[in-house]
Amino acid sequence: MITDLCLDTSKQNDPLYDLSHANTMALACLADTVVTLTAESQLDTFMASTDSSQPLFVLSGGSNVLLPSKLHAIVLRPKMRGITITAQTQDYVEIEVMAGENWHDLVIHTVDQGWYGLENLALIPGLTGAAPVQNIGAYGVQLEDYMQYVRAYHLPSKTWHQLTAADCEFGYRDSLFKRTPNTWLISRVGFRLHTDPTKVLANYGDVQTVAQTYAEQQGRALPAPRDVMHAIIDIRKQKLPDPQQLPNCGSFFQNPIISQNQFESLQSIYPNIVGYPMPTSTVKVAAGWLIEQAGLKGSGIEPIVTHKHQALVLTNHTPYQATQADVATAQNHIASSVYDKFAITLCREPVWVNADGTIGQEHAV
Ligand SMILES: Cc1cc2nc3c(=O)[nH]c(=O)nc-3n(C[C@H](O)[C@H](O)[C@H](O)COP(=O)(O)OP(=O)(O)OC[C@H]3O[C@@H](n4cnc5c(N)ncnc54)[C@H](O)[C@@H]3O)c2cc1C
Repeated sequence: MITDLCLDTSKQNDPLYDLSHANTMALACLADTVVTLTAESQLDTFMASTDSSQPLFVLSGGSNVLLPSKLHAIVLRPKMRGITITAQTQDYVEIEVMAGENWHDLVIHTVDQGWYGLENLALIPGLTGAAPVQNIGAYGVQLEDYMQYVRAYHLPSKTWHQLTAADCEFGYRDSLFKRTPNTWLISRVGFRLHTDPTKVLANYGDVQTVAQTYAEQQGRALPAPRDVMHAIIDIRKQKLPDPQQLPNCGSFFQNPIISQNQFESLQSIYPNIVGYPMPTSTVKVAAGWLIEQAGLKGSGIEPIVTHKHQALVLTNHTPYQATQADVATAQNHIASSVYDKFAITLCREPVWVNADGTIGQEHAV
């Protein structure tokens, strides 16, 4: 049971709120204090009454975190809801979305309304307020392509700010928020979406073919954004295990970037190595391929095992019992096996949370 606390500060010293069901990896986690926010004003009230030295940690959908068994920070859970149109022309619509809106539901809602751009980001778990943190991306689109601004609370100074997309310093799966953890709480995200149903981005993997089938079923000659969204939902469902059925936190390792020279020497030994050329004589290598070639597809160290169809995804086979330490054991085994074979270092994608709420490099990979 998740037992959230809604500004009931009298309960702050009551021990242990169970967050095992509040993270998609289903790691056992007991927190000292959980504060659920359903309005921005509650954050002002809470922060005014809080000792500024107390560690704080922001938790949304828990789909990109590895939580510790005991979490001693105050856990802030932004659950403010609402979607507002702030501007509209024939060509575009601007909306402001509160942090607690479910991301996938938002994507479906926008497409239903005829507001386009987010369709390639369908079925990414989590809440809207977390989406800017790692500049979520999939199938050729990143959040920054459609995001205009965020409204965010600066926790150390207890002040509200509006940050433009440029202020957010977005990079690939990266942002100001990711680089300065426990500093900002994002409460609203502003988007500008387009209204042209002929403008789609479908030239990625199988998307074009599947979207075309959807389009023809609907009597359309070419895929519309709705067809692309359904194609991506189908493809993702086939590729990635559903965390509700098999707990996981999506891609566990980032695709490493190596030098062109190293790639070429590996290619002479492994002609099938999967790599994508990058600027400045570097190559991005598919981490899933490396793990599979290291003989670790569908294995790991129980209960944390790579998925049998997708080696990049680590799954938890004893939900609500396995701990962060189990993840560390399995990830280190996988990372060192890959290093021994290819001399490539794998880096973890999900956020490692320490017992005091700081973001850690524990067992850094
Ligand atoms: C099956 C699966 C597939 C996935 N596919 C993708 C994918 O295709 N592309 C992709 O980019 N990601 C993907 N992810 C990762 C994840 O879904 C995203 O990173 C998502 O945005 C995390 O949202 P969340 O609400 O679960 O955040 P959480 O896991 O709760 O938090 C993640 C981080 O953001 C911080 N944070 C959360 N909310 C806020 C806030 N309101 N203000 C400030 N900081 C905040 C937290 O402190 C933490 O550091 C996938 C995950 C899973 C499980």
